[in-house]
Amino acid sequence: MPQKNYVPERFQSPEYLAALADTSAPQTAIFHKNALNHMQEIAVKGYPNEICGLLLGNITAQDWNIHDVRQIDNINTERAADRFQLDPKGYQAVDREIRGTDIEIIGVFHSHPDCPAKPSPTDLNNAWEGFLYPIISVCDGKVANIHCWEPNDLSGKFHPVHMSKANS
Ligand SMILES: [Zn+2]
Repeated sequence: MPQKNYVPERFQSPEYLAALADTSAPQTAIFHKNALNHMQEIAVKGYPNEICGLLLGNITAQDWNIHDVRQIDNINTERAADRFQLDPKGYQAVDREIRGTDIEIIGVFHSHPDCPAKPSPTDLNNAWEGFLYPIISVCDGKVANIHCWEPNDLSGKFHPVHMSKANS
């Protein structure tokens, strides 16, 4: 059997390449250990479907601090393998959960089953500036890699974001 291609041709297309900027975002994405582990578990468990969820934490001038994550149902059932749409009810539930705390919703993560951890033009169209977008590439049911992205309205592209792990 030929080896599976984890970089489908569309990821090399001009349309896909145009969604990505060369210059990194100025801030760093700092993941607390549990948040990073939980995000990976959700992505693996959902494979071969695309999963999505919210990042909880704080934003400072220097970084995104991701304390926790919450899985939200992907209501795009027609193309569950390569599209996601956050269930608004799930979003509202998390919003209620954190109300009155100093924790905020600061980003949206999703998985790319058997595809690179690079955002698609569709991801760009649906992205909100100021939010962090980690993408988890899950190949053959295992996490291949994770990259974080920030959409920038000025450049009209996703900028790569440096990732690091918090000590706690
Ligand atoms: Zn995507």
